[in-house]
Order: sequence, then C-alpha cells, then structure tokens
Amino acid sequence: MTALTMSSSTPFRIIIVGGGIAGLAAAIALRKDSRQITILEQSRLSAEIGATISLQPNATRILEQSWGLTDLLNGSNGTVDHGFRIYNADGKMVNEIPLRSKTQYGADRIMWHREDLHAYLKKAATSIERDGQPAILRTSARVSRCDCEGGKVILESGEHLEADLVIGADGIHSALRTSILGREAHPKPTGSSAYRLMLPTAILNERAPQFSENINPEEPYTSMIMAHSCRLIMGPARGGSLYSIVGLVPDEQMNENSDEAQSWVTKGHPEKMLETFKDFPSWTKDALRNAESIGLWQLRDLDPLDKWHSGRAIIIGDAAHAMLPTQGQGASQTIEDAEALGTLFSHIIGRPSKDEVSSILEDVFKSRHERASLIQRFSREAAKPATERGSNVIKMHPDEFMDYNCTYRGVHDWEQRRSMSAITVGLKTTAVA
Ligand SMILES: Cc1cc2nc3c(=O)[nH]c(=O)nc-3n(C[C@H](O)[C@H](O)[C@H](O)COP(=O)(O)OP(=O)(O)OC[C@H]3O[C@@H](n4cnc5c(N)ncnc54)[C@H](O)[C@@H]3O)c2cc1C
Repeated sequence: MTALTMSSSTPFRIIIVGGGIAGLAAAIALRKDSRQITILEQSRLSAEIGATISLQPNATRILEQSWGLTDLLNGSNGTVDHGFRIYNADGKMVNEIPLRSKTQYGADRIMWHREDLHAYLKKAATSIERDGQPAILRTSARVSRCDCEGGKVILESGEHLEADLVIGADGIHSALRTSILGREAHPKPTGSSAYRLMLPTAILNERAPQFSENINPEEPYTSMIMAHSCRLIMGPARGGSLYSIVGLVPDEQMNENSDEAQSWVTKGHPEKMLETFKDFPSWTKDALRNAESIGLWQLRDLDPLDKWHSGRAIIIGDAAHAMLPTQGQGASQTIEDAEALGTLFSHIIGRPSKDEVSSILEDVFKSRHERASLIQRFSREAAKPATERGSNVIKMHPDEFMDYNCTYRGVHDWEQRRSMSAITVGLKTTAVA
C-alpha cells in the first residue's frame, strides 16, 4: 500500500468519543508521530466501578505482542486465571477445567479490578514514555452528535471540533451510533440482569469462613455456581486481596425492577438479592450478606448492525456490538477492533482525504463484522439455562467457544485465514445458527 499524505506537515487529526476500554485501546493502537489524538470523555473519570473484568488470550496477545505492553500483567495488578471451577446448586464442585491459555493460545486470560485495567490503558494512551504522540484526554466533554461527512463533532456545551477520523467508542448507549446510522438502534433487554459485588478477601475469610473453605478466594480461578437459570460467577482481583461476585438472574425471577438499571451506578437491594438466591448453598449467601455495595445492571445487547461507519466516522466496542458478558469477550472484542484500526491505518502518515478514510473504515468493518456478530451470538447461547429444568446436571460448558474466540492473531492473520477458509467454528456451530 502507498503512504498517503494530503500535507505531511499537518498532523492527522483523530477524535475518539469515549474514554472507556475501547476508546483508550483505539488511542494506543493509533498513536504515532504526526498524529493528534483527542479523547472526549463525558465523565470526570473519578469514580470507576467496583467490578472485575477479564481479557481473553485473543486480547492480551494484542496488548502484549502487537502493542508491546510487555508489563501488562505486573504493571497493572492483573491476575492470571488458572481455570474454571463449576459447582452445582448444592454447592458441590462437579467440574474443573484448567486453562492452559499460554501454551494453547500463546497468551493468558487475565482478570483485573476494572479500575486497574482502565488506569493502565489510560497511561499507555497518554504517557510521553511510549512511541508516538501521546493522546490528549479531555474529561467532562459530552458529545451530542457528529457530522460524519465533515468529521465534525458537536459537544453538548455547543463546542464544535473537527477531525480527519472520528471514532465512536461511547458504549452501549452511543450517540455516535445514531449519527452514523441516521436512526436510533436501541439495545434490547436480553431477559437477564446482573448483580455485582466486590468484597475484600479478609472480610470474606473473617465473616464468611465457610465460603472461604469451599472456594479459596485467593486462588486464581473463575468459580461458577450454576442453578437452572440463576448463576454466580466469581473470581479474585488485585493479587487475591479482593473477590468479585456477579449474580446472573432472569428478569422474571428478579425481586426488584431491573428495567431502570441501565447505569453502572444503579444499586441493587441486599435483601431482595438474597431472596433471589435463597435456594443457593448457605455459604454463598454468607458472602452475599457481607457485601457493602451492590450494583445492579440489566443486561442488554445489540442485534448485529449492518453498518458501523459513515464518511469519516466509525463506531467500535459496545457502541457497535454490545454483547452479553457470559463469555467475557466484550472488552476483548473492543481490543480487536482497536487493533484492526491501528493496523489498517498504519500506512497513513499525513492527513487522509475523506475517501481514503471511508475506504479504510469499510475494510475495518468487513474484517470485524462477521466475527464480532458471531461472538455476540455465542454469548447469547452461553446465557441459556445451565441445566434442564428440575435437574442438577450442568450441560453448559464455559470453555465451549474458546478455540474460535482465542485463536485470533490480528486482522491480517484473520483475513488470510478467512481467504483460505481455515477458520473452524467448532462442533457447536449449529447450536448458535
Ligand atoms: C456485568 C458485566 C460484566 C462484564 N464482564 C466482562 C468481562 O469479564 N470481560 C469482558 O471482556 N467484558 C465484560 N463486560 C463487558 C465490558 O464491560 C464491555 O464490553 C466493555 O467495557 C466495552 O467497552 P467500551 O469502551 O466499548 O464501552 P464502555 O466501557 O461503556 O465505555 C464507554 C465510555 O464512553 C463514555 N461516553 C458515553 N457516551 C458519551 C458521550 N456522548 N460523550 C463522551 N463520552 C461518552 C462513557 O462515559 C464511557 O467512559 C461485562 C459487562 C457487564 C455488564
């Protein structure tokens, strides 16, 4: 490909709307000399959410190997996940699935406190210590819309900004999505909600000792307690000093109204949560009872969109393909989007014309859409009841789609394998079709 320049003396101006994982990852991927990257974030980024997040090998490989973030694990308080431990509703461990991510996929599955991963990515995007011009992060900058053809971003304050490339990384309720599609595409309730709790391990050990006897909260495993339709998904963060619990519940079994729970800061009600999990083993309820703060989030996702870009603008991450958290791929897919942007724009050294930008954005869309859409469907599949009704036998396998998800090695490799028809979805393809 030829290096494209309108004028090599003026920088390539990039605006990223949203300073979450997708926005920061895009800034890291696109950082280069002669590029001026501005991230516009609506919040003040002062209060992160008390929850854990994991990145899968497909994403950690990009961070470590493609972007050279070799201190990812140690520099960010990450914890390598050693495997899944599956318990039935009687609290009996029925399966242990070791994760050999490094040997199998060349990179680890890593768990974090969201705050730690966010802080690490923010530093990598804005630090002067890395190659390329650092991104500028502007907080309290809420964008209301974008003129995609002209690359104009309009803030709620009335301020207008202009860029050669606009990236909408503004999450599930994206404003940029509406500008790009020319219509609203509302995320749909998926029929499930999630409680989120985070407890210091010392509190668990002291006040819920039976919990710690059954599940050692300092061990780096993802533990899942599966009833027919409710489940608890749990794991450590910050070297085992914190323990995270996510409780998935069908909306129809909620004892409180989750319809309004569309913000990361919506609170759940402790007694009502305990009522929902009343049939779970008593030692799990000991832990739930000791949570100081409970978040509640109604899980919504998007049907695959037929368009992610228009003119100079594109959406990525949850704005483009919000998915259920049942495979922990939401954030990892945003990293893949960012890698595709970074790679496919890598030959651009000056200011690109609108046609050049549009053509590359179409390549990003073509290379990412099929895979992200399929993983959205896998995630819906993984949310289905874990057992037959009235049975204790767990039929759900958390590692079911691992090979498809985790063998990703960046956009060029993917395109090459696709052209050779070398990608297999695995035995379960028919189940998600
Ligand atoms: C309960 C739960 C557990 C999860 N667990 C995992 C997990 O373990 N692993 C995983 O990979 N994924 C997980 N996910 C999904 C994951 O959190 C998301 O996929 C990921 O955070 C998406 O990142 P994003 O940057 O696209 O969106 P967001 O994280 O939502 O970030 C969007 C950013 O844009 C800002 N913004 C929004 N609108 C505007 C605007 N108009 N102007 C300026 N700024 C704006 C927001 O303030 C925010 O900072 C989970 C999700 C849930 C609900």
